[in-house]
Amino acid sequence: MPDPIIDLRSDTVTRPSAAMLDAMLRAPVGDDVYEEDPTVRALEDAAAARFGLEAGLFCPSGTMTNQIAIKAHTEPLSEVICEQTAHVYLWEVGGIAFHSGASVALIPGDRGRVTAAQVEAAIRPDDNVHYPTSNLVCLENTSNRGGGSCYSMETIAAIAEVARRRKLAMHLDGARIFNALVATGQRAEDYGQYFDSISVCLSKGLGTPVGSVLLGSKAFVHKCRRIRKVMGGGMRQAGILAAAGLYALEHNVDRLADDHRHARELGATLQEQSYVAEVLPVETNLVIFRLRDEVKPESFLNHLGQHGIRASSFGPQMIRFVTHLDVDDAMIGRVQQALVALSA
Ligand SMILES: *Cc1c(COP(=O)(O)O)cnc(C)c1O
Repeated sequence: MPDPIIDLRSDTVTRPSAAMLDAMLRAPVGDDVYEEDPTVRALEDAAAARFGLEAGLFCPSGTMTNQIAIKAHTEPLSEVICEQTAHVYLWEVGGIAFHSGASVALIPGDRGRVTAAQVEAAIRPDDNVHYPTSNLVCLENTSNRGGGSCYSMETIAAIAEVARRRKLAMHLDGARIFNALVATGQRAEDYGQYFDSISVCLSKGLGTPVGSVLLGSKAFVHKCRRIRKVMGGGMRQAGILAAAGLYALEHNVDRLADDHRHARELGATLQEQSYVAEVLPVETNLVIFRLRDEVKPESFLNHLGQHGIRASSFGPQMIRFVTHLDVDDAMIGRVQQALVALSA
């Protein structure tokens, strides 16, 4: 039998395990638009409780949870403050303009992370007819473009202090928040203290086929439920999908440490290769690196392809590897061999 393909393009390529599929098959379900699906409710409550927030809303994607949150926190003529490579700005099809009629103030960050001073400087002065109204700060943790970088709790607390003092809401794009929690040892409940809303992806490192949850206060989630409906995101017997999320919260969080170890191992091998110009610091499960100018990214990806390895190009000369629960120790060994073979 040929070796299995090693797919490092994204942590979204995972397939549900037999045990997860079994949990999905056995899930009690109802019509979730009537709020009668017990499994969806159990997932929403469990996720909210973990982060010290009151309520949750199960949605088809992280794009939807982010965009619903932004719409709920803003109105037309608002401005959203975020880092210049933020997913909510760069990779959600311009949804902030489309759904919310809001503008965006972009901050150049350090590997995707912004500081309290930068946020404060980006807030528009009040009472000037020329300006939009700053009313939301969006942080991303871990940062995707930043190569899986994590915020410290001190920085988050300082940004939250600015937001509170200047009366801005705080939203967390926590697509990979569990990676950040596992890597830093931070407490999930602390996030509920600093953020008004949190979006968590279940379909990335946690390995479910579909779904994200949006967390916040009861009143906030009530408002978001209507926005989800107008976006066409009201699902019926969604408990089948939510069951995968419940299973993942229980079984697939602690093991993210394996993905982080695998990413560090790949990062270390890349550092030693003459064709690699730079590897961003590896903090979680993303490895972003830059090829030397004389190496064509297409040839590099082709070489990996011949070894049964898939990866993504991530900007000029940049490549991204993502480790996840369908990549095991033996596969990491194979990738390392392929990387070394290219140097020879
Ligand atoms: C993947 C991702 C999302 C949401 O993506 P969906 O594919 O819509 O679920 C949001 N933010 C970040 C940082 C992401 O990496």
